[in-house]
Amino acid sequence: MTRPKSRLKDYERKRRFAITPEPRPKVTRRSARSGILQFVVQKHRASHLHYDFRLEWDGALLSWAVPKGPSLDPETKRLAMAVEDHPLEYADFEGIIPAGEYGGGTVMVWDQGTYVPDEPDVGKDWHQGEIKFTLQGRKLKGGWVLVRTGGATSRTWLLIKRRDAAAERGDSLLVRQPRSVVSKRLLAEIAFDEGGDVERAAAADPPDAIRALIRNPRTRRRVPHRTPAVWRSKSAGASTKRIGMS
Ligand code: MN
Repeated sequence: MTRPKSRLKDYERKRRFAITPEPRPKVTRRSARSGILQFVVQKHRASHLHYDFRLEWDGALLSWAVPKGPSLDPETKRLAMAVEDHPLEYADFEGIIPAGEYGGGTVMVWDQGTYVPDEPDVGKDWHQGEIKFTLQGRKLKGGWVLVRTGGATSRTWLLIKRRDAAAERGDSLLVRQPRSVVSKRLLAEIAFDEGGDVERAAAADPPDAIRALIRNPRTRRRVPHRTPAVWRSKSAGASTKRIGMS
């Protein structure tokens, strides 16, 4: 694979960092915990709802957009479109990408954790179009595989759960566990806190969860103070600094 710096050119080219609160790639750095690889799944209500699936490799995050989100059912193959590599810092990004910017909308850290690849060279697996790995997340666990379809230049992959104790029939996970693993918020609550489009975000939350919130708004999750994992939008930047988050 090419070096992380050049791998992140597409990421940088697509974004205006004076406007979006998304992280600007820093000087190339390896994982702080050597040998441990992180993964993140971000629920992203952009022009279309999708789940961004990201695996750390060689100082950046290999990334796929999964329109229907991961399924725990090995019978269900989920389309995963390869997108540009993201900086490692992106794994902690939760908040609002301003309307009109690339990917404009609400982003939630839906799952986070570490992963172990079956084969040590994930870059080689990526080029060959098949990556097998085990997830140790809060929601996603066990064996998974990403398989590219349609040749070496294709951006089309499939994300599939492998058969093991963490597999299950059906597709209730996304409805059962709709909240952020870092802030416990629904998409609508993130949009509300960060000045995003609440109605658009709420349309991507499970209707039952939104109805419960409307029935009793006092159950609304507050922004967790002093949680470094949560990024705030630029408009909230001042207060963010004061309480020592960033
Ligand atoms: Mn996305």
